[in-house]
Amino acid sequence: VLIDQRAEAFHLMTLNAKVFDASMEGILICDANNHIMAVNAAFHQITGYSASEVQGINPRLLASGRQDHLYFANMWQLLLSNDHWQGELENRHANGSTYCARMTITLSRDSAGNPQHFIGNIVDVTAVKQMEKALRQSEHRYRALFDNMQHGFALHEIVTDESGTPVNYRLLAANRTYAEVTGFGSKIIVGRLVTELFPGVHEDKVDWIGIFGKVALSGVPHRMESYSEGLDKWFDVVAYRPMVRQFAVLVSDITVRKKSEEKLHLAASVFANSREGIMITAPDGTIIDVNDAFTNITGYSHDEIVGQTPRILSSGRQSKAFYTALWQDLHTKGHWYGEVWNRRKSGDVYAEMQTISTVLNDDGHAQHFVSLFSDVTASKEHEQKLQHIAHYDALTNLPNRVLLGDRLHQGMAQTLRHGNKLAVAFLDLDAFKAVNDTHGHEVGDELLIALSGRMRNALREGDTLARIGGDEFVAVLGDLADAAASLPLLSRLLSAAAQPVDIHGLELQVSASLGVTFFPQSEDVEADQLLRQADQAMYQAKIAGKNRYHIFDAELDRSVRGQHESIERIRLALSEHEFVLYYQPKVNMRSGKLIGAEALIRWQHPEKGLLSPAVFLPVIEDHPLAIEIGEWVIAAALAQMVQWRQAGLRLPVSVNIGARQLQQLNFTQRLAALLAAQPDISPGDLELEVLETSALEDIAGVSRVIQACRDIGVKFALDDFGTGYSSLTYLKRLPVTMLKIDQSFVRNMLDDPDDLAILQGVIGLASAFRREVIAEGVETVAHGALLLQLGCELAQGYGIARPMAPDHMPAWAAAWRPDAAWQNQAVIGKEALPLLFAGADLRAWVASLASFLRGDRVALPTMDVHECQIGQWIATEGLLLYRWNPAYTVVAATHQAIHDLAAEIVQIHEAGQPTQDRWAEILTLRDLLLGQLEVLIRESTSPEIDNDICEIRAVPLM
Ligand code: C2E
Ligand code: MG
Ligand code: MG
Repeated sequence: VLIDQRAEAFHLMTLNAKVFDASMEGILICDANNHIMAVNAAFHQITGYSASEVQGINPRLLASGRQDHLYFANMWQLLLSNDHWQGELENRHANGSTYCARMTITLSRDSAGNPQHFIGNIVDVTAVKQMEKALRQSEHRYRALFDNMQHGFALHEIVTDESGTPVNYRLLAANRTYAEVTGFGSKIIVGRLVTELFPGVHEDKVDWIGIFGKVALSGVPHRMESYSEGLDKWFDVVAYRPMVRQFAVLVSDITVRKKSEEKLHLAASVFANSREGIMITAPDGTIIDVNDAFTNITGYSHDEIVGQTPRILSSGRQSKAFYTALWQDLHTKGHWYGEVWNRRKSGDVYAEMQTISTVLNDDGHAQHFVSLFSDVTASKEHEQKLQHIAHYDALTNLPNRVLLGDRLHQGMAQTLRHGNKLAVAFLDLDAFKAVNDTHGHEVGDELLIALSGRMRNALREGDTLARIGGDEFVAVLGDLADAAASLPLLSRLLSAAAQPVDIHGLELQVSASLGVTFFPQSEDVEADQLLRQADQAMYQAKIAGKNRYHIFDAELDRSVRGQHESIERIRLALSEHEFVLYYQPKVNMRSGKLIGAEALIRWQHPEKGLLSPAVFLPVIEDHPLAIEIGEWVIAAALAQMVQWRQAGLRLPVSVNIGARQLQQLNFTQRLAALLAAQPDISPGDLELEVLETSALEDIAGVSRVIQACRDIGVKFALDDFGTGYSSLTYLKRLPVTMLKIDQSFVRNMLDDPDDLAILQGVIGLASAFRREVIAEGVETVAHGALLLQLGCELAQGYGIARPMAPDHMPAWAAAWRPDAAWQNQAVIGKEALPLLFAGADLRAWVASLASFLRGDRVALPTMDVHECQIGQWIATEGLLLYRWNPAYTVVAATHQAIHDLAAEIVQIHEAGQPTQDRWAEILTLRDLLLGQLEVLIRESTSPEIDNDICEIRAVPLM
């Protein structure tokens, strides 16, 4: 048993020894005194010491000596209290090198509990240590790399619920950039759930969780750009799943890029959507890019224009100097702003407002030129249109009064500089009103347009023709060597106005009266004065027979003006009894009865002789003195009537009443008082004449006065009737008994068919309104005869008697007999009126031929036998109504003869030969023709012939 026990113990020992030696760990066994008793093979390998070398040696031998005492004290303390210790020690190999040993020391005790052995296990962990260090260094390096990555990076573990649906994300790692970029900073803590991390941390609108969820679910990498309002930052976020249960986000701050992109985008959309054309050119001017607006404005498409230069747009309207200045600005200031006229692809020229800016590169050199422009043609045109409206007459497109003023001032200044002459011509169309009345305003307007064009063309380039009123024009003719140099121009103007005009098949012909004045004059004159002078002269041209010019006589004007007396002198005249009344008889031409006399004031001036009212009445027109003189006139006239009565002549008297006197508050009482002073005179023998123009100023007031005067028996006449254009309504409201037809119509009625028409109209009007009518200005027997034919029997005028001193009146009244021609002058019927007009036409035609030959008129009257007014009458109405009448045949033949003779005379005239002899023949022929017209008139006025005419009318024309 013992042997067996020993054998077993031996066996066990050998087994232990085998394990001991076979162990990979070094083993050392020390006795209680800590002396090495045994070491194994691995120990030798690890420490370099063999068993024999260390037998009985303290294991301190193994130490490198660099561990401090405290470390060992600590080790012993732990070992003795725990019977065990484990730790690392730095040891020294037998060959002198150091290595790191991991030691496990176990204390075994005997049965009494006393330390018996220390068994140490030793492993060389140097390699492991080095690896760990290397790993640590690597980790460090990568961490630094990781943290300093340009992208923020975060790795999450996906937290799922039981069904495997992701519910949350736990942060596994995040780099510093992530913390910085996201603004989370130190709040980023590994191990936190995303839901803890994110909510409420920022007003950040980036939906991290949403992004995570999307990726977590789909597993597909996801990239997006997100904007955080809270941070005012743009992020580029890439999320992906590196492993099944993980996902990572890469975040980068792209705010800078994003903002510049936004800017670019903005710039691009501005470029594309701008209403302004934009053109970008290279420094050499080559066009690089244009926008849509450019294409819209210029008509050139992008492809057509790119590569061209802006010269393709040039209209040629700008000078070379313009472009030089433009480039100068661009180079010195870097920009240019202004208006340019360019040409579209279509060829149209347009105005653009352009800004050109130089874009510099980093070196400060021009890199591009950017030109922005808008089409301002429309507004330019609008502006021009407004300018035009302000300065031009809408109908004729001629300068208006405003522009005329400018031109006249300019012209006057220039004339003074150049030392030459300027003519101002005031032109008024003759008989234009009749065109309007007969054919309507539209035709009138077209006539004005046509004549304006012709008259404009009759003048020179630099002359101005302005329209200043209905049919009134003013021509400013500058740069004249002398006054005579204007005459050809005036003649051309007159002939332009007198040319027939075809308006929708209607041939219209008028003429013009021209008044001319010149600048400079011996006295200083203003532009306004020039216009007034020309106007005045025009009026003279009208009076002299129209279709002619009259030159304003500055000398005469001055002398007339010089005659105007001062108010004081006039007052003195009244107190000195220098005023006298002359009387002009008013008669019935048919019966020869003297029906009354008009009292006309005169000033018996001690030095200047007998002055006409025109010299002094206008001076006091608006002065209270006018009333005083007016009362004197009434009183003097009444006194005169008393005197005549005593001499056996009972003569009603009419007195002219000025506007001011009529408006006097107590006029009727004053009148009644004056009448009461002459009780022998019946108020019915006094007639008051009031000018139509002054009655129209205050219709209501004047008609009240007239009514009040009628109540005391005094009658009223409307003087100068026809000059005020009374409407029928007015006429109805004015309770006058008599209309006095203005002498201007009467004077011209023989050879102005228009005035004849007015006269006829007024006479008709008077009878329709049951007013009496009297004609003023009857200067000849012919005037009277025609008036009688028209049915106007009452007349006043030089042809009957001039105004005379009252003493002559009784003798004149006793002696006067009306002209025989008047006594058997019948009133003609309506049918015969055209014959009267034909006569007037003929007279007018002959008169204008005469004035042409005199040189007063530049245009010949119509020489074509069928074209003139009477020629037309012969060919139409005359033919229709009178062709069976021998007188008609004579009329037609005589008319032809007159035209033939006229043509000959004109030839003679143009050859520079005298024409007087042949002219007498014309007059003879004219009177022959007029005589035959009279025959036709007489015959058509007799009732039997009237029937004949009716029959003739029934005869078909051909
Ligand atoms: P009126 O009342 O129309 O007078 C007629 C004017 O025509 C007068 O001129 C007369 O001499 C002139 N006359 C008459 N027959 C003819 C003719 O056949 N041919 C021409 N060419 N003229 C003729 P007068 O006397 O120079 O007076 C001019 C105007 O002065 C008058 O025009 C009247 O408006 C005004 N007047 C005259 N006397 C007075 C007066 O006592 N008081 C007022 N308030 N005005 C007066
Ligand atoms: Mg009168
Ligand atoms: Mg009159």
